[in-house]
Amino acid sequence: MDTEVSAASQELKGGGVVVLPTETVYGLAANALDVEAVRKIFIIKGRPLNNPLILHVLDSSWLKRYTHAEKYSTRVAKITDAFWPGPITIILPKKEIIPNIVTSGFDTVAVRCPDHSLFREVLRASDLPLAAPSANPFGYVSPTSLRQVKATIGNKIKIMLDGGECAVGLESTIVDITCPIPKILRPGAIIADAISKVLGENVIDYHTQIVSKSPNTPGQLKQHYCTNTRLILFEYGHRKFSQNPVGRTVILFMQKPKNLRRIAKNLQFPIEEIFWFSDDGNPNVIAKNLFSMLQQLDSAQYDTILCERPLREGIGIAIDDRLLRAAAKFNG
Ligand code: AMP
Ligand code: MG
Repeated sequence: MDTEVSAASQELKGGGVVVLPTETVYGLAANALDVEAVRKIFIIKGRPLNNPLILHVLDSSWLKRYTHAEKYSTRVAKITDAFWPGPITIILPKKEIIPNIVTSGFDTVAVRCPDHSLFREVLRASDLPLAAPSANPFGYVSPTSLRQVKATIGNKIKIMLDGGECAVGLESTIVDITCPIPKILRPGAIIADAISKVLGENVIDYHTQIVSKSPNTPGQLKQHYCTNTRLILFEYGHRKFSQNPVGRTVILFMQKPKNLRRIAKNLQFPIEEIFWFSDDGNPNVIAKNLFSMLQQLDSAQYDTILCERPLREGIGIAIDDRLLRAAAKFNG
């Protein structure tokens, strides 16, 4: 076995916390069965205890160890056959063995099977279910490379495995299949239509309106993924701004604009630089680059980032969800 995989596995078995890559974002992992180990995750991140964690398993055969998946066996089989390993998390009734700290006291648990070889090797080697939220301080932009992890919480963790850049770049879709009609709790790369097709039944899609101050879904907060730099959003294809930018300002488009010089000329205020998430508007590329671009600009000492919103279709719904939450603290 790879020495770093075996070191990570030993650390987890001993109650430690390690940083692991997934296909969505980098995770801060601990043995979900060990209350003290899980507590470390909350402390390192500064995450409130009422924000439940996702349990990561090697494959669907592990579900019976930790959940009452049998109550929803048809839905579970359809989703796991179609999408696992992959960026979709399902909500299931939990078994006693899962401590309350993982689920914030709920009798359901969120479970996912990650699609990254390093994470999977650690799961196999440790034979432990891993609780693993994103490896960033609570409320900040999620990390999609080890460099980003190191820039924020890096020095607090002994073992961090480098798995390159995350292929998806957005947190998993979360779907509650314990409801009479399955419901998307968090949009992600796997969209409601695709889930609905696989299940052969309706799925309640996620509505882009921002969740109120007392969210009925645990952990879905109005402000999240926040940059320190002022972030102001504008509508796709429109260059109208709800607020005037302050200080050193940059503008960030979904796709490389055709005439860069004309953009700078037509704006009513000076901008220092123009950036874009993708050359050709490919939504999967935008998703992959979303958090890394935001963090890069956030660490560059600008005062204002003007950022275009995506088209709200397909994975664009998830991209827009993250951007709205990231900008929420700058919009009153
Ligand atoms: P993350 O913050 O990416 O680690 O994802 C964890 C999110 O999963 C939480 O913030 C919740 O929104 C969601 N979640 C976890 N457990 C549950 C649960 N039992 N019921 C509903 N949502 C959950
Ligand atoms: Mg997170």
